[in-house]
Amino acid sequence: LSVRPTTVRLVFLGAAGVGKSALIRRFLHDLFDHKYTRTVEELHVLEYDTAGCGKMRLEILDTSGSYSFPAMRELCIRHSDAFALVYAVDDPGSFEEVRRLRDEILELRGGKSAPITVVGSKADLTEAEGRVLQAGEAMSTVEGEWAADFVEASARTGANTLRVFGSMLQQVNLPHRLS
Ligand code: GDP
Ligand code: MG
Repeated sequence: LSVRPTTVRLVFLGAAGVGKSALIRRFLHDLFDHKYTRTVEELHVLEYDTAGCGKMRLEILDTSGSYSFPAMRELCIRHSDAFALVYAVDDPGSFEEVRRLRDEILELRGGKSAPITVVGSKADLTEAEGRVLQAGEAMSTVEGEWAADFVEASARTGANTLRVFGSMLQQVNLPHRLS
């Protein structure tokens, strides 16, 4: 008999403007808009029906990308069950931020791996529209070197958005129907 947790906390980390809030909004409301609202920090709480293991409480923490107090970020990392580290395919600096965040998570939690899903956001962008990071290269770093999950997704089109959350629930061994 395996005991399922009753609450799972998913946290979204990444540079400002990469599309963290947009991904969460697409997941929760199936909506997208072009406006950019600077998030301070927002916690979404919902009841989630797992595939066959009853209902549970799902907490989704949307962060701002910049913590003025390192201690807050440390608390957030210690108290989360799975991490989405988000970069945007048109922002190489945001991939470097993902690298730093992963290092920080591993250092704080100890060990060689953590429940991390790296998300290449704004996957709808073509090279003409500003894409500079290719999925293949990012995937070989993330899956090959880091042994973390990798998903390219677009909150704008909705492509793979569910897969992001499915991957995070998978990381904490929760049955789900998201793919
Ligand atoms: P956050 O700071 O990481 O929460 O980023 P936001 O979710 O607020 O998004 C920042 C900006 O990027 C907004 O203007 C969004 O409209 C835009 N954006 C977010 N997701 C996508 C996407 O999938 N595709 C495109 N083309 N733009 C996006
Ligand atoms: Mg935001």
